[in-house]
Amino acid sequence: MSDEKTDSSRVANLPLETKSQEKAREEKLPCVTNGQLKLYDPKANNVERFIKLLSQRINRPLASSMVACVHCGMCADSCHYALAKPDDPTMTPAYKADQIRRIFKRHMDWTGRIVPWWVHARSLASDEDLNRLKNTVFGMCSQCRRCTLNCPMGVDTAALIRLTRGILTELGIVPEGVFNVSRDQWETGNQMAVTEEDYLETLEWMKEETQEELGISEIDIPMDKKDCDFMYTINPREIKFDPRSIANAAKIFHFAGENWTMPKWGWDQTNFGLYSGDDKLGAYVARNLYESAKKLRAKRIVISECGHGYRSTRWEGYNWAEYDQTIPTESVVITLIRYIKEGRITVDPALNPEPVTFHDSCNIARSGDLIEEPRWILRQACSDFREMHPNRTENFCCTGGSGLLSMAEYRPLRMEVAQIKADQLKATGAKIVCTICHNCVDGLNDLVRHYKLEMKVVQILDLVANALIVPKKK
Ligand code: SF4
Ligand code: SF4
Repeated sequence: MSDEKTDSSRVANLPLETKSQEKAREEKLPCVTNGQLKLYDPKANNVERFIKLLSQRINRPLASSMVACVHCGMCADSCHYALAKPDDPTMTPAYKADQIRRIFKRHMDWTGRIVPWWVHARSLASDEDLNRLKNTVFGMCSQCRRCTLNCPMGVDTAALIRLTRGILTELGIVPEGVFNVSRDQWETGNQMAVTEEDYLETLEWMKEETQEELGISEIDIPMDKKDCDFMYTINPREIKFDPRSIANAAKIFHFAGENWTMPKWGWDQTNFGLYSGDDKLGAYVARNLYESAKKLRAKRIVISECGHGYRSTRWEGYNWAEYDQTIPTESVVITLIRYIKEGRITVDPALNPEPVTFHDSCNIARSGDLIEEPRWILRQACSDFREMHPNRTENFCCTGGSGLLSMAEYRPLRMEVAQIKADQLKATGAKIVCTICHNCVDGLNDLVRHYKLEMKVVQILDLVANALIVPKKK
């Protein structure tokens, strides 16, 4: 497909340079910040650096996704971008992957080197091309992997998108939001730059509120306690915007008679490295968390409700950090199932009478392993649970995945393609949509407001805490 077609898409028409890039060029800023994160260096030969990094990072699975596509077009029916904009071929997964594939073919594949015109191989000409590539891989894909699962050739388009994002991050050619969040996570250890003071104060506040609400002074949010049954790790959004989720967890853990703790450092289970493709950031964040659990001699790591945090902490982090992680990890969803099955807590579905549907987070259902588990809890804790369609591994993305919520410039397109998700939600007739991901909560809330849906977005901890039968005081 031609570049003219790229230019016809709204995203590709965005300004090519971000403010940081402009500033770096005008003020001749140094090209490295906080030792790791790179600022754009306009004087460098970025095209050459890109090609070099691409050749260094290609491995066998990525190479097979580069060469296996037969352009059958089946993936177009999987992608919410392509489904919402059927007349725009630049929205199809194959087109997006072709933008990196053609560079790979031109420089690393023998056919592309000898007869480039035959296999549509093409190199990059300038930083402008790199910026165009940035708008494609950051602005037109939420790395949901729905196309990956539906490709007959096993092409992992999302992995190619992440590879490209990672190389562009290395060159400092990234959206402003990606740069800022990555910098915060490098500098403060958490992606919302929560200070230790704010963290501890919020937890103290939640502890006092829960004690007051239930009239039980023993309810605690223990800090840095050694030899506990588990160390509880959270998403910084819980501290900044939704501390009730921690209070709900503390309440449930108390009634389950749990011996738990939270760590003072290494508590952020989210990991922007997964989104930006920066494996070094991924390794740094994961290592913080694993080391913290080791130091506290925790028997287990429990991960609060977050899709990409769960995927990063449970599946990807060991590899990025090359860490010999021996402490078991689990989602809080599994912890809750254990409590209910062992009779450590009791829930009454009548306390959640409104119709509830469930949104599978891409990073948990498609790229993880929890599909029936949240549904089991919903059937215990709600009296009217109904599926949305399609569901489980075929569910559509909340549209805010892959860090898109931090990239304001791509919001108009994101809201446009969210029509697919809005229709899916509406068809359930549910008043509540539950998800086990904080990122999905924000993505769904955004589209619920945009499409004026009468729906409330909640998480499993909210519903279980609401359905909890509080034992009578002896
Ligand atoms: S479904 Fe797979 S093989 Fe077919 S066009 Fe899409 S990526 Fe290529
Ligand atoms: S990963 Fe998801 S958003 Fe990206 S191209 Fe595939 S289906 Fe579309």
